[in-house]
Amino acid sequence: MRIKRISVYQVDLPLAEGPYNWSGGNTVRTFDSTIVRVETDAGLTGYGEVCPLGPAYLPAYAAGARAGIAELGPALLGLDPTQIGILNHAMDAALKGHPYVKSPLDIACWDILGQVAGLPVCELLGGRYGDDFILYRAISQESPEKMAELVATHRDEGYTRFQLKVGADPSDDIERIRIAASRLGPEDRLIADANTGWLMHDAKRVVAAVSDVDLYIEQPCLSYEECLSVRASTPHPFVLDESIASVHDLLRASNDDAMDVINLKISKLGGITKARQMRDLCVSVGIAMTIEDTWGGDFTTAAIAHLAHSTPPRFLFTSTDFNSYVTVSTATNPPLRKHGRLSAPDSPGLGLEPSFGVLGDPVLVIE
Ligand code: MG
Repeated sequence: MRIKRISVYQVDLPLAEGPYNWSGGNTVRTFDSTIVRVETDAGLTGYGEVCPLGPAYLPAYAAGARAGIAELGPALLGLDPTQIGILNHAMDAALKGHPYVKSPLDIACWDILGQVAGLPVCELLGGRYGDDFILYRAISQESPEKMAELVATHRDEGYTRFQLKVGADPSDDIERIRIAASRLGPEDRLIADANTGWLMHDAKRVVAAVSDVDLYIEQPCLSYEECLSVRASTPHPFVLDESIASVHDLLRASNDDAMDVINLKISKLGGITKARQMRDLCVSVGIAMTIEDTWGGDFTTAAIAHLAHSTPPRFLFTSTDFNSYVTVSTATNPPLRKHGRLSAPDSPGLGLEPSFGVLGDPVLVIE
């Protein structure tokens, strides 16, 4: 089986609750998402998606994904999409770095491999643990009172994990944490995600002021070394996200006891193949994970669901249903949250049928 055509679609995904804000004054109102369609000479078709969280979060941007696929795509024509190791090797040989460009192509090939095997991707990634898995809700950076209201609203929907976007003025952030925590029960978990927004002295003030709160601290500062310094000054469980972009980062951080949990984003690593490698390594060394991506719609949510559902539940701290944050659906049978939990689709591959009326015409075809 050979790849004969790669089509690229661009889709705007507006946020249902209005602007999503995080540290540093960053905000997104509508996501610019890229969906790839990989067609084979055997009549099988696979889909993948990449959706950066705007251009200022990670070294990735939406138009860059499409420019990268235009550069890389021709090197994949004629390759067998079911030989996923070989395919990833070819992508790395043709384009150095730029993992987010490779991610939707890798996901689409997993979709095809699942269809060939007659199995959902989660079963190829190790098996389906139980009926469903746990989700978190990201709470946009707003006033402390509004964030607490959003926590309460989403708790009523069944969520039990809440990631507060902090990383602003430390005194405001302390209030954000305290008010939100007051709305939660003992079964809930609260994460204060600064998204690199604090300096070390800011972070140390915050963790000292909320030392009595049952709370996780996520990526307080920009650099790994700053985060290590904050980690040493707090007993709170500690999550690293932006600082973990490769297996090398994970190995170093594990050896340094730099965190208890990592945030594993599929496109940051280059696709399901490399995310699975990191997932399995985390399971081996006892590090729990939030399994997710930078954002996206139905196809990203399905890819996340397959990786999360095949992760031992004790190691899956949280995952996410990004398609519930946006107003546009790109598939006719998307995975949908029930009571704060999600399950991976049951049909072979990713298990999604695209809505071509939403995708429109491709913005790029490589053949
Ligand atoms: Mg984070």
